[in-house]
Parts: sequence; structure tokens; C-alpha cells
Amino acid sequence: MAQDSENQIFQGVIDEIPFISVDYFLDVQSSQALFLSHCHADHMKGLDSRDLCQALQTKSGVFIYCSEKTKQILTDWPIYSKLGRYLKALELNHTVKIDFPGDPGNGNANTTFCVTTIPSGHCPGSVMFLYEGSFGTILYTGDFRIAEGDCRKFQAFMSNPSRPEYGLKTIDHIYLDCTFCTDSAKTFPSRQMSVDVTIALISKWISKSPEHKVLFSLAGRGFGAEFLFVEVHRRLNIQVHISEFKHKIYKNLTDLRNAISRQHTTSVHACSEGTVSAKKRSPCFKDSSKLLIIRLTTQWHLMEGKNVDLRVVVDEGGIQRVLYSMHSSLEEIQDLVNTLQPHKVTPIAKPDNMSKEKIQQLLNCKVFLPVNRFRSRENDEDYS
Ligand SMILES: [Zn+2]
Ligand SMILES: [Zn+2]
Repeated sequence: MAQDSENQIFQGVIDEIPFISVDYFLDVQSSQALFLSHCHADHMKGLDSRDLCQALQTKSGVFIYCSEKTKQILTDWPIYSKLGRYLKALELNHTVKIDFPGDPGNGNANTTFCVTTIPSGHCPGSVMFLYEGSFGTILYTGDFRIAEGDCRKFQAFMSNPSRPEYGLKTIDHIYLDCTFCTDSAKTFPSRQMSVDVTIALISKWISKSPEHKVLFSLAGRGFGAEFLFVEVHRRLNIQVHISEFKHKIYKNLTDLRNAISRQHTTSVHACSEGTVSAKKRSPCFKDSSKLLIIRLTTQWHLMEGKNVDLRVVVDEGGIQRVLYSMHSSLEEIQDLVNTLQPHKVTPIAKPDNMSKEKIQQLLNCKVFLPVNRFRSRENDEDYS
């Protein structure tokens, strides 16, 4: 069936390494290694499926590779804890050799390649994967937020880390997070700036009285604001009250465990999900007139007609909207592509209805759309 290839989503396929699957765990019977970049639902499709468990049990030597922190998160997350023995943690900024015995019956030779995990600045445990082998040098970014200039500092990209003057490796292909590859997301305030503004808001509010409280209003169960909890604790010496579910997961993450609490008497909270009125009724907040709600948002600030430009904080009817992005801005994406100079790019996420041609123009690089897992690229008319 003809597929709308312009909106084809990434299904774990790395063209050059057909025997692995990245951030996609459905129909992976033929995959010999699986990779998970971070714990967000759109990168975990099929990770809780029975089929995956069966595939892991029946085929020996197949593992899910991820960062140490991602492994810890999954181990403490009840629906994923059964994957425990199949998770292999990769140390950050280290290169690991992965070997598969060949299957001569199928004409497959012995396969060896290297993978390096690089922190991607997106959420706890998030990493990029750099694959090197006879197929070339391939970077899979997962979701990332990397400030301009910072990707030059990663040793993994240097052709000789002890001789930086030798320059950077040649990257053949980047599977790239293009979430904000659009003119409307040209620049974002730095993470530091968003943190500074948020800490100042909290500090001013809670200094009014011991009854004044702050609530981070976070969407669902996603991860992403945890660095803020660490900063609140470090700078204001306050622990953040969080839900039981999150506490289960965070309590074993070394940099987070001191920043969080199950004590509802604390001044700063990130404990409740649901509507604002439900939050105000929470037992944590006796007097809703003394409650300051802070919401970290990106899309809201970018919405047409908001006209808030780059204001880091906007008061929307009592809710403080802080512009904070977990993904790189257009300029940050352009800087990464411009620095690494790949031969081609495949977006693994992009704005709705954004054409390949437009991305190509913004990145000044050849762009291919991801292939359907069940159709080879040769059959794809769009591949040219
Ligand atoms: Zn993500
Ligand atoms: Zn609370």
C-alpha cells in the first residue's frame, strides 16, 4: 500500500546496519541488537510487549543497549523490570565493541562494530549512539538538546582525541532529531537562563511566607524537568515533593535522590498530575491563593498569535509559563549539522507536514526520510 512517505515515522531502521533496531521494539525478531536512547514513550514502542520478551528469551545473545541511568530507570519501572537481564548498560563516552557470530546458512558473515554513547542533554539517561564499522560512521542522535559549539567538545567526534588539531571524524549519516527544525523555533533561551528565571520566581514567591508554595505543573509521567529539581535543591536547599511513581524511579539515581522528597510539607512540589483545579485541591496546598504554578513549555511559546517571542517567562492567567526546551532549536540543530558535516541526514522526528525539501534547505545537507520497516528503500519512490 502506498504510504504517505512525507510523514513516515522512524521505525528503528538504520539503513546501513539492518541487523539492529534503535528506539523501536516491535517486530524485532530479526534484530541482533536493540538500542534505547532514552525513556520517552515515542522511543519505547513495543518495549513492554510480550513479543519482545519472547524474542529475547528464544534468541541468545540479543540485548537492549542503553545508558547506565536508563537501565536503572527501567529496572525500577514495574512494567519494564522483567527486561532486567537483557539490559546492557553502556558507559558514557566509552566505545564498546559488539560482536555477532555470523549465520553462514543465511550467508551472513561474522559481524563486528563499535558503538559509543554520548550524553544528549534531553532527559535523565538520554544518549546518542555513534556506530562505527565497515558500514561507515553513523550517528543516531535520539532526542537531544546540545548548545551551539558544544558538539565540538565530545571526544567521540574527534578523529584523534589526544590531537584535537586533527579535526573531527567524517560522519556518513546522521539520524537526527529535527523536532524544532523550523523557522518558528530559531533560538531558545539556554537551559541555564530558563533555570535562573525559574529559581528567581520560586525564591521570590516562597520568601513571602512559609505558607507560600510552588507547583511545577508537568505533563503526564514524562521525564525532562529533573535537572530543575537538582538546581532547586542545590541553590535553595529545598527538596521537591514528587509522586510515589516517580519517587520509586528517582530514588536510585544518584544525582536526583537528594533533591526529591515524599514530604508534602516542603515548599516546592511536582507531585500532582491532572487539571489545574485538581492540583489546587491537592492536600499539599491548603491555600490556593498562596500557590504559584510554573509550567515549562516550548510549543505554547511558539504558537502563532501568542506573540511572546523569546520572553523566558509569560504570565498566562496566573500560570507562569517558562520557555524551556528539551530539544535543540533550529540554530542549535544547524550548528550540529554544520560542525559534523554528514553526507546525509534522516530526520527521526520533525514538525508535522514539514517537507524533506524544506529541511534540506534549512540544514544545507542532503535529507532522506526514514524508511518503512516493512519495505526496502529500493522500492521507495521517494528515495532519490
Ligand atoms: Zn524524548
Ligand atoms: Zn506535593
